[in-house]
Amino acid sequence: MGKSLGNISESGRVGFWRHAQNLAPWRNHPCFEQENVSLASLVPLTVHGDGAQFFRDDEHYVYSISSLFGCNGCIQTTLLSKFPIAIIPERWMRSSQAQKSVNQTVAQLVAWSLKCSISGVGPDVGMYGETLTGYRAEMRGVSLGPWKAAYFAFKADLKARKWMHSFSRYYKSKLICDSCLVSSGASDSAMRYKNFSQEAAWPLTTVSHEDYMAMPGTKTTWLQVEGFRLENCAFDFMHNVFLGIARDLCGSSIQVLIRFGWYDHVVGDMDCKLAAVQREMVRDCRACGFFMPKKPVLTEANLGKDDYAQLGTRFKASHVKLIVFWIAKKTQKCSDQAPNHDRITHVLATCAYSLQRCIDLCDNSGLVLDPTAANEASDSLRLHLKTYSWLAAYFHRERLLLFKLRPKHHYVYHQAMQLKAWRININSFSTWDEEGFLGQIKAIATACHGATATYRVYQRYLLVLALMVQRHRELNDM
Ligand SMILES: [Zn+2]
Repeated sequence: MGKSLGNISESGRVGFWRHAQNLAPWRNHPCFEQENVSLASLVPLTVHGDGAQFFRDDEHYVYSISSLFGCNGCIQTTLLSKFPIAIIPERWMRSSQAQKSVNQTVAQLVAWSLKCSISGVGPDVGMYGETLTGYRAEMRGVSLGPWKAAYFAFKADLKARKWMHSFSRYYKSKLICDSCLVSSGASDSAMRYKNFSQEAAWPLTTVSHEDYMAMPGTKTTWLQVEGFRLENCAFDFMHNVFLGIARDLCGSSIQVLIRFGWYDHVVGDMDCKLAAVQREMVRDCRACGFFMPKKPVLTEANLGKDDYAQLGTRFKASHVKLIVFWIAKKTQKCSDQAPNHDRITHVLATCAYSLQRCIDLCDNSGLVLDPTAANEASDSLRLHLKTYSWLAAYFHRERLLLFKLRPKHHYVYHQAMQLKAWRININSFSTWDEEGFLGQIKAIATACHGATATYRVYQRYLLVLALMVQRHRELNDM
């Protein structure tokens, strides 16, 4: 249990819930109406869903839960802070009907479990209304202990978000966003997602949960989970930024630095200059106390040679994060040395610095940011988007494939607005730990035979968990 509380004190937990109570997405959460609920012993749960390829061409869908408090650094292993709800092979869900039915059942299970948790006593009947037997029957009406859990937010990358909530507006459709009416190809430029200027009209079309419910079309099955609202279905900063827009920023910035003559002293072709850039990156990061891996090697090929400049997919999120850190420092240095009329270098430095500033502020804050930090982080993120779109427009006119604007830039805008309004650290809704957790579940699954993995994975998971709990008990760390 201690692992689910992170390093947040009792008063901190009460303060967090009081803060959430003032925010629109959680104001009417049923957990606040329960008389027997103490906010100090209420754990905010996040639900995560994502696919993981356990074997070749055999993707499995993993649903898991974790505590929002447990993301603040004291946890050493994700297996003790995240717990799988269901692991289902995709081959069992070939039809869209089967997918919907699986999703519906998992949502029903989560809804029923959290209802029992909030009530504080063992349930009278099972999730299907069936009579309970054995140990479960003995627990009927018996207190489940002082700790309770309530749904707080949903975490998923964009693909899983669409898959689990059946949103009709998603990144591949014309109306790309479930949270507003922005469009990818609107004849009216004011509604285009690439428009981050003052004239953009889409920021005025934010869709609230009530709007979503009033709109026609299929609604998400997760509505049955008490406290679920469209707004608390969070965007993932890691996928949107470090596996998304930061790849474009890094790729384009490196090309601009080379094109604008900052590496003219290096003799040789493009790959020689890129090798020099990478050597400098590794050296500068080491001087700041960060270890940057030397591989994958930076080459023209993994920088999107004949397409828009972008770091290749072999660069992992943590690596991209370090490159953003370096780009921010390097472009600032270049901007200091550049003449006043060199607008590109100055705008690029602002663009990189503003993203890094937001990352810094969030990394150095707790679960709830203080108002000054939240405002600065949000403004920095929006400044990043504005300067990035300026650079995109400039290089579009120059017919150069640099600074591509993607739907992910739009989702980051929503995250910037949420950061300002909620002040909840966007890192709490990131899936860094969840990706690590999926890796560990995958390691357990691949130790099983492919034919029996579907049920053996749970048995092995319980064994690993038991060993881990035992080890931590011996170390007196539970
Ligand atoms: Zn939107």
